[in-house]
Amino acid sequence: MSRAPLHRIEAPPPDSLPATPEAFLASLHGPTLLRVPGRDRSRARAFTTLLHGNEPSGLRGLHGWLRDGPEPAVDALCLVGSVAAARAGPGFAHRMLPGERDLNRCFHPPFLEAEGALAEAMLAALRDAGCEALVDVHNNTGHNPPYAVATRIDPERLALAALFAERFIHCDLHLGTLIEATEGDFPGLTLECGRAGDPAADATARAVLDAFFATPELPTKPGRHLVILHEPVRVCLRDGVRVAFGEGGPRPDADLTVAGDIDRHNFQAVAPGTPVGWLRDPASWPLEAHGANGSDVSREFFREREGRLEIARDLVPIMMTTDSDVASADCLFYAVRPRDVEP
Ligand SMILES: [Zn+2]
Repeated sequence: MSRAPLHRIEAPPPDSLPATPEAFLASLHGPTLLRVPGRDRSRARAFTTLLHGNEPSGLRGLHGWLRDGPEPAVDALCLVGSVAAARAGPGFAHRMLPGERDLNRCFHPPFLEAEGALAEAMLAALRDAGCEALVDVHNNTGHNPPYAVATRIDPERLALAALFAERFIHCDLHLGTLIEATEGDFPGLTLECGRAGDPAADATARAVLDAFFATPELPTKPGRHLVILHEPVRVCLRDGVRVAFGEGGPRPDADLTVAGDIDRHNFQAVAPGTPVGWLRDPASWPLEAHGANGSDVSREFFREREGRLEIARDLVPIMMTTDSDVASADCLFYAVRPRDVEP
């Protein structure tokens, strides 16, 4: 039996909506596109959430927004992605289901398997609706302020980002994300709201919905000063490298032991010599680091000294995690650079 990868529903009336975000999630029949009619029905904007099942702030914000009976300026397309992964364990434990692919790496042809089919259906739905903008809401695991990520740096995206955040990352990596796939269709942002489970991150996601859908016209220039960072390099563990987080020295069960409070450096400029952690075997290099051109620059960014791994050049780390599963499945962090001049 074939199943449509994406269920399309009208937004339920506020008083018929389940009382909790979890019950709302349980009521969905898989990945869902929920349309809330706007005052101007000829236009639409899109809000996407749960592309990663362990990042619930967007769902919580959406549930609260729907319960308040919103009247968006234009049609609101609210897309809830990895519903099965989000429901699979208690407390939003799964980024994706075991054995499945990361949905936000599947937005490129060929659209293979269930995740590819869903990505393709999502893209078709957003394009068919003639969306004028997209905000894709995520959480991360470390200590991070809210920030926007965009694939292009232009007035529309900077203006959109400034509605929600003080920090803007221009990302030129090709990962297969939703905002990459739609960059030629409409301005889009990923908004990283903060740590999953933090009420402040949930409040940020809710504020995104309020601001994004209330205004009849989106701004065309940023309404505040933005810190702009660019040229991200994705820092990952090499295949098979075991990581642990802790203090005081290398742990015997890990190839790389990263300082447990490493995420305090997020969004701070760090200087050469700043320690990252300890190596069990100093002769065994633990990292790969790839920027837009694809070559491994890990040895330019890091160095080994007396069994310690340390930063080797000026950089700003973002999205540093202290979760070994995230570090293994995705990456340790991204290194970016400040952009001196505003475009
Ligand atoms: Zn995510």
